[in-house]
Amino acid sequence: MAKRDYYEILGVAKNATDEELKKAYRKLAMKYHPDRNPDSKEAEERFKEAKEAYEMLSDEQKRGAYDRFGHAGVDPNAGVGGGGMGGAGFADAFGDIFGEIFGAAGGGGGRRGGPQVYRGADLKYTLDISLEQAANGFDTEIRVPSWETCDVCHGSGAKPGTKPRTCHTCDGNGAVRMQQGFFSVQQTCPTCHGTGKEITDPCVSCDGVGRIRKNKTLQVKIPAGIDDGMRIRSSGNGEPGVNGGPPGDLYVEIHLKPHGIFQRDADDLHCELTIPFTTAALGGELEVPTLAGRGAITIPEGTQTGKTFRLRGKGIRGLRASYPGDLYCHISVETPVRLTDEQKKILRQFETSLAQGGEKHSPKSESWTDRVKNFFS
Ligand SMILES: [Zn+2]
Ligand SMILES: [Zn+2]
Repeated sequence: MAKRDYYEILGVAKNATDEELKKAYRKLAMKYHPDRNPDSKEAEERFKEAKEAYEMLSDEQKRGAYDRFGHAGVDPNAGVGGGGMGGAGFADAFGDIFGEIFGAAGGGGGRRGGPQVYRGADLKYTLDISLEQAANGFDTEIRVPSWETCDVCHGSGAKPGTKPRTCHTCDGNGAVRMQQGFFSVQQTCPTCHGTGKEITDPCVSCDGVGRIRKNKTLQVKIPAGIDDGMRIRSSGNGEPGVNGGPPGDLYVEIHLKPHGIFQRDADDLHCELTIPFTTAALGGELEVPTLAGRGAITIPEGTQTGKTFRLRGKGIRGLRASYPGDLYCHISVETPVRLTDEQKKILRQFETSLAQGGEKHSPKSESWTDRVKNFFS
């Protein structure tokens, strides 16, 4: 599905100022907000679209990238991305603008009046997965916090029989104006935290919060190729908003457990293969483990420790990659231990044989010996 141009979505010119962007977004967000359009899929889509467009264009850096590269420059890819994506900055921007939108709307004209509405905080859930799970993708269920309206006070937060009263600090506005030098700045009311209400007799069941924290099960689809530190966004599954504001999002952050054999480097895998010195000297076929099962490599005669063999396509196919990465097997030659007298005798004979042969049998140490000689001469 082709994505629409962000400027087109907001209905602004390419050189729109921040103020114009904000105004356009506010208009759309008011029009398409899910609370005003319950059960309308189209409104929901429009709302999300506008939210994304505003999020991108209101960020100077992202806007620059978008102007130069289009959607490819800023792809928020609907959920999955690298560590830095969609973090606190996003929540802050959105929380702020919603505070303004609903603060103004609730008052029935005018910026003052009516409690402030805030978007709920984002939540993070760390999911430990194995390398195999990351490579193949899988479906899982996670238990995440959820909130239910308190049965005892029915959400008011006040002890049954009592009523929350209008906050004395902000007169129910949820915000207070503070004088800072020449400027008057609007801030969330410190007494009621923006609700506009003060609870003198809090409900015992919910501690005056009005809701009770429970848990719920969430189905999560982990796409094949996902890597350590990537996050999957689950829209609306964060903390609930304040005064009817939209909930935050839940971010499932992937943590890749260490693997017994493979180390992952983006789409490539690395493993160490230990071979006996006889195989290293004589060569042979070697069975190697791959994520897809058994593989084999041919060890040529005279293989040195540190030599790397690449198995093409035996790595991991990344999220947006067309081809899987490779598997690198790093050879380490092992020195035999606990030799019997007989075995030692054979090795000494072998050593003598090497010395008599007149051939260069140790390419590395011989060239090193030459270098040391040159160094001292
Ligand atoms: Zn309660
Ligand atoms: Zn207050």
